Parts: sequence; structure tokens; C-alpha cells
Amino acid sequence: MTNKRPVAIYWGSSCGGCEISVANLHDHLLDFDANFQLVFCPCLVDTKVDDVRAMPDGAIEVTLFNGAIRTDENEEMAHLMRRKSKVLVAYGACASSGSIPALSNLHRREDHFRAAYLDNPSIDNPEGVLPTTSTNVAEGELKLPRFHDRVRTLAQVVPVDYFVPGCPPESHQLWGILELLIAGGPLPPRGSLLGGGRKTVCDECARERHDKKIDRIRRPYEFAPDPKTCLLEQGLLCMGVATRDGCGALCPQANMPCNGCYGIPEGVLDQGAKMASTLGSILDIEPLKGLPEEAIRRHIDAILDGMPDYAGTFYKFTLASSLLEGALGKRTPEVKG
Ligand code: SF4
Ligand code: SF4
Ligand code: SF4
Repeated sequence: MTNKRPVAIYWGSSCGGCEISVANLHDHLLDFDANFQLVFCPCLVDTKVDDVRAMPDGAIEVTLFNGAIRTDENEEMAHLMRRKSKVLVAYGACASSGSIPALSNLHRREDHFRAAYLDNPSIDNPEGVLPTTSTNVAEGELKLPRFHDRVRTLAQVVPVDYFVPGCPPESHQLWGILELLIAGGPLPPRGSLLGGGRKTVCDECARERHDKKIDRIRRPYEFAPDPKTCLLEQGLLCMGVATRDGCGALCPQANMPCNGCYGIPEGVLDQGAKMASTLGSILDIEPLKGLPEEAIRRHIDAILDGMPDYAGTFYKFTLASSLLEGALGKRTPEVKG
């Protein structure tokens, strides 16, 4: 019999980076081991889903669920982990707001299958075989989880207690949560965002800011930016202005623009819309005054050419939880099969 608290870490549609942030606890892993028992974590512990099914409801103290909901399996596991856990945490940007997997919401499921299994030059598939949920072979019926039309956040599927931003979250923030559990609380109100601030990355960025006016959007590979001046002022698309603080402005500190992984700042409805409006307000349109409309359009198109992927830039981490939810939209009914 152990006094250790049972915890679980589960991945839905995930890249595995959130698990790495757990490994990044470094020395705290010993404290983790002293206080918690990892009862379920497919990439680290050899317990099976049936072991979890056999547990009483609420038996797991806390589950860190990373990854978005893309398949039947992800959805089933979200319900199972919700039932078995006292506290369910949407851990990281994918579980919290869809993140990179949700950029696929811009296309239909058929388009993904076509790109992956038919038009892919590294695939040899002359018969055009596509994944099906059930296949009969000599040994019996093989089943695959259904691939949904749309990626959803964890909270769009089951009630979530806490949200932890970041892609992946910073390990010291994870430790802050675990320390709270070790101390026995008190836990923040349910529904809280843990590990993020209440302002924007710009508020914690030490770079000097002036009146911004840019005449061109530049890509990071084009030049070495001045290390002291705001990157947005230098024409780099830094999302800091539309991103929640809490990471310590890690990317601008390393002379790279913020990609927006901490998600929507407090008081902002939609990260991409906020960034688009910021961009609109800092484009230098002074030289355009008096020009014919066609010339203005060409000039603005030339400025925006520096940003080849609008959705991937503005909504890299928040498309599933944005007002748009992707080109398919929230009202598109799920196609079964
Ligand atoms: S939040 Fe980032 S690190 Fe975590 S699973 Fe998603 S893509 Fe990977
Ligand atoms: S836009 Fe980027 S570089 Fe400029 S202040 Fe904000 S976080 Fe820093
Ligand atoms: S600077 Fe932006 S992209 Fe980088 S870690 Fe912080 S929130 Fe994420």
C-alpha cells in the first residue's frame, strides 16, 4: 500500500512534446516520484486502458491530458479520464485551444486522406486504399478509430478543471501545479488557467518599443534583427501583442518572434483577429495617400507577401477555440463512418 497520489498523463492528438516538458522537471522528478504514483502514461508506464477502466471513478488524483481530440479513441479516452480523475487538466496548447493539429480544420477529412494516402509522392498505393474503421483479415476483424472531420479542444468534449497554456508548457509551471497538490491545496477555482499571466508577452518583453510603422513584413531568415528593439517594429511578425504572458518572453529573448503558443490574452476574444487589427494599425500607409485604389491594393499586397500563411501565422495555436474554428466551422455536422 502506498501513500503516493495516483496521477495519469495521457495524450490525445499530440506530438509528444508535452511529455518532454514532464521529463524536463529534471531534479524535481525525484520529488515527483516521492509524492506521486504514475498509474497511467502510455509512453512511460506499462499499464493498459483496461487497468484504468477497472479503477473506481475518481480514483486518479489528477490527469494531465495533452493533445487535441481528433479521433474516436481520443474522444473515448477524454470521457474515460474525466470519469476516473478528480482533477482533469487540459495540459498544453493542443488540449487547451487546438494548437497545430487544429490547423487541419481548414480542410476536409477527404483532403487529408488524399494528401496522405493518394497524392503523397513517397506512398506506393496503386489501388488507392484509404483507411477504414473496420477491415476483415484471416485472423478476424481489425478496427481503427474513426478520424473526425474536425479537431476539437478537450473542453469542447468533456468538462475541464484547469488549463495550462504553452507548446509545450514550461516545466517550472508544471512543477508549480504539482507543488500545490503536494501541499494539499488550496486549488484555484475550477476553470482557471494555470501557469499563464493576465497580460501579454509584450508586457514581459524587455525590448525597447517606439512608435511602430512598418513598410514590409520580413521573414526571420532574411536578416539578423537588432537584439534590443521590438521585433514587430523591425517587420517581424511577433505575436507577443496578441499572446498571453507567462513564459517570460522566451522567444523574443532569443531574438525570435513570438509564435503565440500561450494563446489568447485576458480580455481578447480571438487571437488572430487581435493580431490582424494590430497589423492593420502599424502598416505605414503614409506613402499611399493620394494614390489610386489599385496602386494601394498592390502596395498592401506586397507588404503582406511577407506572410505567406495567414491562418497558420495568426491561429497557429488557437484555431479550434477561435471564433472561426476553421473553414469547416462549428456548425458543420460530423460525418459518421
Ligand atoms: S501543445 Fe505543443 S508540445 Fe504539447 S502536444 Fe501540442 S504540439 Fe506537442
Ligand atoms: S511585439 Fe514582440 S518583440 Fe515587440 S515588445 Fe511585443 S513581444 Fe517584444
Ligand atoms: S514567446 Fe510566445 S511562442 Fe515563445 S514561448 Fe512565449 S508565448 Fe510561446
